[in-house]
Amino acid sequence: MAEKQYDALVIGAGAAGLAAGRALVDAGRAVLLLEARTRIGGRVHTDESFAEFPLEMGAEFIHGDRAATHDLVRRAGLSVIPVVRLGNLWWAESEARAITHSALPQSVRERLRGLIGDYEALAEADLPVDMSLGTYLRGRGWDEDALRMTDVLLAQTCCAGIDTLSCHDLIREKRADRAGSGEARIGEGYSALLRWYSRDLPLRLAAPANVLQWGDSGVEVRCGVDVYRARACIVTVPVSVLQRGDIRFAPALPQEKRRALQAFGFEAATKLIYRFREKFWPDDLTYMAHPGITARWWTPGYGRAQAAVLCAYVTAGRARQVDALSQKDALALGLRELGVLLARPAAWLERECVAAKRVSWAQERYTGGGYAHVPPGAAACREILAQPVGAVLFFAGEATAFDSNPQTVHGALESGWRAARACLGA
Ligand SMILES: Cc1cc2nc3c(=O)[nH]c(=O)nc-3n(C[C@H](O)[C@H](O)[C@H](O)COP(=O)(O)OP(=O)(O)OC[C@H]3O[C@@H](n4cnc5c(N)ncnc54)[C@H](O)[C@@H]3O)c2cc1C
Repeated sequence: MAEKQYDALVIGAGAAGLAAGRALVDAGRAVLLLEARTRIGGRVHTDESFAEFPLEMGAEFIHGDRAATHDLVRRAGLSVIPVVRLGNLWWAESEARAITHSALPQSVRERLRGLIGDYEALAEADLPVDMSLGTYLRGRGWDEDALRMTDVLLAQTCCAGIDTLSCHDLIREKRADRAGSGEARIGEGYSALLRWYSRDLPLRLAAPANVLQWGDSGVEVRCGVDVYRARACIVTVPVSVLQRGDIRFAPALPQEKRRALQAFGFEAATKLIYRFREKFWPDDLTYMAHPGITARWWTPGYGRAQAAVLCAYVTAGRARQVDALSQKDALALGLRELGVLLARPAAWLERECVAAKRVSWAQERYTGGGYAHVPPGAAACREILAQPVGAVLFFAGEATAFDSNPQTVHGALESGWRAARACLGA
């Protein structure tokens, strides 16, 4: 059924869509957000019932002391729990117990410092030809052990492998970064922030857009039998959704945009989350990593009174391996590797574990993975995807955050504000 004519439609009510919608509503425009799921937030999703505190199924940290998210947290009257992760890393070689940061051998610390130094040096690097992070580090003389460490600590964070990450894209991000260092969790959970931010926004839930007709006079968006018309549309759905063709554009998007879209990588991302009877690790444990399958572990309850939860976060090839198992086998694999890291028998861990769950974002229809990465040779694709088409189609979402930090909530927010500004300007 056709409805009233809007100034703008926003497709997707994740961080980017809410930011775009909020900016347009604040500017007095008639806007409607169309969201496929029955909830807002997209890749921000806090579980309020698994533990005694809000637990993040998706985005967990605010990356950067100056990230735009902090301003929203303050305005919403929420709290933050700062956490040092990489600087407090417990590391383990294969099938070995994790060693606390202060006890790490000098050689490991030096390797870590050197690798991070070379990674940071990318900001100043002059690489005429794009290459993968792996090729760049091999060229700096690092051996395969060092590359395995980088794969776990840096590439996994980017939801990619060391040989599938573009150095030109990393250089771009380092130069565009305004968020700085420092990390924190939101005390009340990320969803509390987006709930506050979405208050009073005109929104249709359970409205998956499947056809978007556009032309000089405006857009018509179909969500099944419902039809919505507007002068402009801001598309904020994940790259994976666009790559799959879930939204049919009529006419098709320009070829350059379609090529850019297909150039993105979009890998799996999975959390294995365990709640234990009691906390059996030291209060200062924040981050633990090793070259195994469940490569990176952290303590979601860090800084809280009730805190007996551990989470393994895996991405890319590791997440595909974990996703290929049954939930029971995946959780058992996690416990086995955790037992080695913390020197506890797996049978004891099983007895102490009172609840566990796997959260696989690749299996979420409206996400299809973790977040987009750019393979070598495709560094222009973020900016191309971000460009408006005429004065009617605008694009936002973490993957388009070419002028900020993609793969983050604040990058997604900023992309939404950018698209709204462009839409208002048009
Ligand atoms: C496991 C995981 C951990 C992460 N950890 C962090 C972290 O610690 N810190 C951080 O800053 N970032 C983190 N991120 C990244 C962060 O979550 C994202 O960058 C950000 O939330 C993306 O926001 P978005 O609005 O671009 O996309 P989304 O949040 O995906 O929003 C897009 C919306 O579009 C909707 N949609 C899809 N298809 C349609 C359709 N056809 N019609 C209508 N609506 C549709 C979706 O349902 C969704 O709500 C993490 C992500 C994951 C998956």
